[in-house]
Amino acid sequence: MSINIKDIAAKDRNTVLHPFTQLKDFATGKLGEPTIVETGKGIRIQDAHGNQLIDGFAGLYCVNVGYGRTEVAEAISRQAYRLAYYHSYAAHTTDELAILSDRLVKMAPGKMSKVFYGMSGSDANETQAKLVWYYNNLRGKPTKKKIISRERGYHGCSVVSGSMTGMSFYHDHMDLPLPQIDHTGVPHHYWGANPGETEREFSARRAAELDEMIETLGPDNVGAFIAEPVLGTGGITPPPEGYWEAIQVVLKKHDVLLIADEVITGFGRTGSMFGSQHYGIEPDLITVAKGLTSAYFPLSASIVGEKVYKVMEEGADKVGAFSHGYTYSGHPIGAAAANAVIDIVEKENLPGNAREVGAYFQAQLKEKFAQLPIVGEVRGVGLMGAIEFVGDRENKTRFDPSLKVGARVSKAARDRGLIARAMPHGDILGFAPPLVITKEEVDEIVSIAEKAVRSVMDELV
Ligand code: PLP
Repeated sequence: MSINIKDIAAKDRNTVLHPFTQLKDFATGKLGEPTIVETGKGIRIQDAHGNQLIDGFAGLYCVNVGYGRTEVAEAISRQAYRLAYYHSYAAHTTDELAILSDRLVKMAPGKMSKVFYGMSGSDANETQAKLVWYYNNLRGKPTKKKIISRERGYHGCSVVSGSMTGMSFYHDHMDLPLPQIDHTGVPHHYWGANPGETEREFSARRAAELDEMIETLGPDNVGAFIAEPVLGTGGITPPPEGYWEAIQVVLKKHDVLLIADEVITGFGRTGSMFGSQHYGIEPDLITVAKGLTSAYFPLSASIVGEKVYKVMEEGADKVGAFSHGYTYSGHPIGAAAANAVIDIVEKENLPGNAREVGAYFQAQLKEKFAQLPIVGEVRGVGLMGAIEFVGDRENKTRFDPSLKVGARVSKAARDRGLIARAMPHGDILGFAPPLVITKEEVDEIVSIAEKAVRSVMDELV
């Protein structure tokens, strides 16, 4: 399809309210023209000028099976021709939806029972909060409502999920967070540990802080803890050793539900099918989105564990129907897309690829970047990784934010044909390529990233 680039750019500038975009800079043209993305294949996208870019971030950590998978497009098209829509209210279903739910309950970690569907990670976490409140109301614990998340956790942008998100710039000027949500410390050893403190000691301290927070709020007032198995948008930070073990002891002690937000880590990214399996987490509720359909269709799921579901079923005679649902809950095209994507994830063993190619990727990142004078830490797991830049390695001090080091490195990579994301908290270059990536493609990414980092380093030192 040939398009009039100028016309599309003008229409976009005049009418699209872009997320996470400086509105005035965009409106006045300071940010330049919008990038009109036209096609994609494998790990690459192409813009309307014909420029190819390696997508080292799989969109927003979501196009796990890569671009241009005709199997998924065909599954979507088949379902759209056969039945474009029917709702799942009042016990209606479709074959794709029932098959998908059966698969998810069987493959998910922990003792899962039922699946509720939404359209985004944010709304799925919103549902999780309502499930926690519903569960505790039904079992006669009406005060057990607080939800604890973590500083630098990311759980979405809607009212409850945005409150769960632990980064102030997602709250500022938007009247968040809600009072039902509290935040505990970030499990990042590099920045958070005391001098000489081991990872295990640091994890134990974070768990003790959580314990103290629950005691202070009152265990009868705390309903759930929500966390990503690996901190994502807050900096792509794998948990320190012993973290999940210690945290789960505290949650069990206080009868606090554990919501695993697997929106990024679900379906293979860490090298295990779910991040919970990778770190020995036994969640009561699981949130998935992104990788569920590899973003070929907007679909999310709140997977409900047996413990919570039983209380919901037992309470039904008293409260009537479960009064929560969206027009698009369990959309049949989304379910068909998810089934086709999970077929690929399983047949091509993408968790295995994330483990094997991911180990190579992590080793390359360490080898090429860890010793550079502006690099404080190189970290990651499977096919998610990050390079954090610091002004002073010895004293662990950040660059002056006005230098915008992370954004400059990301731009330098982009100018050389690689998308790697400047993470919002600190000077961090993040990677989360499609899980179908090969070692040769990893070499391409690392080589471009190295040129980009060195070019900015030359400007700085
Ligand atoms: N949870 C996590 C861990 C995420 O990374 C994201 C998005 O990046 C969300 C929730 C929110 O998902 P969505 O953007 O689909 O609302």
